[in-house]
Amino acid sequence: MLPEIEKLLILQDSDQKIRTLQLELNAVPDQKTTKEKAFSELTHQLDRVKTRSREIELEKQRLELEVQTKRGSIARYRQQQLQTRKNEEYSALNHEISIAENKIRTIEDHQLELMEEAEKLQPILEEAQKTYADGRTKLEAQLSGLVTRKSSLEARIRELETARTRLTEGIEEELLYQYSRLFKSKSGHAVVPVDHEVCSGCHMKVTTQTVVLVKSEKSITHCPQCGRILYMS
Ligand SMILES: [Zn+2]
Repeated sequence: MLPEIEKLLILQDSDQKIRTLQLELNAVPDQKTTKEKAFSELTHQLDRVKTRSREIELEKQRLELEVQTKRGSIARYRQQQLQTRKNEEYSALNHEISIAENKIRTIEDHQLELMEEAEKLQPILEEAQKTYADGRTKLEAQLSGLVTRKSSLEARIRELETARTRLTEGIEEELLYQYSRLFKSKSGHAVVPVDHEVCSGCHMKVTTQTVVLVKSEKSITHCPQCGRILYMS
C-alpha cells in the first residue's frame, strides 16, 4: 500500500471518530429542547387543571353572594308585606318572593354541579401535581446528564484534534487539501477501497485502467465518477 494512503487511512479513521462525536455533540441542543418541551406540556396540563379549580372556586363564591342577596331581598319583601294593607301589593310581593326563591333553587342546582365537578377534579389535580413533580425531577436529571455528556464529548473531540496534527505529518499539503475537501463533501468517506472493480464510495464500476493504476500503487488514483481516493482492498 502507498505510504500516503496508509497515512490517510489512519487520519480518516481519526477524523471519522471526530465527525461522529461532533454529530452527537450537535444533537445535544435538540435533545435538550425535546426534553424541555415534553416537560412544558406537563406544566400546561397542571396549569389547566389549576385554572379550572380556581374558576370553580370563584364561581362558587359569586353564586353564594347571589344567594345571600336574593335571601336579603326575600327578607325585605316579607318586611314590606307586614307593613302593607293593600291586598294587591301583598300579592305582588308574594310574586317577587316566589321569583327570588326560584332563582335561589336554580343557583343551588348550579352550586351542586360545581361541587361535583370540584370533587372529580381533586384527584385529577393531585395526579397532575404528582406527574409534574416527577417530570421535574426527571428533567433535572436528564439536563444534568446532557451537560455531562456535552463536556465529555467536547473533551474527547479536543483530545482527538490535538492528536490529529501528528497524524497529518508527512502528508503533502495538496493531497491533504484534496482529502479534507472529499472528507467534508462525501460525509466522512474520502479514501475508499476498490472492491471487485467497484468503487465502494459511489458503488459504480471503475474502468480496468483505473484498477490497474490503483493496483500499481505508484500514485494517488481517484474514482472517475465520485473523485474519492482509491486503494486496493
Ligand atoms: Zn466512486
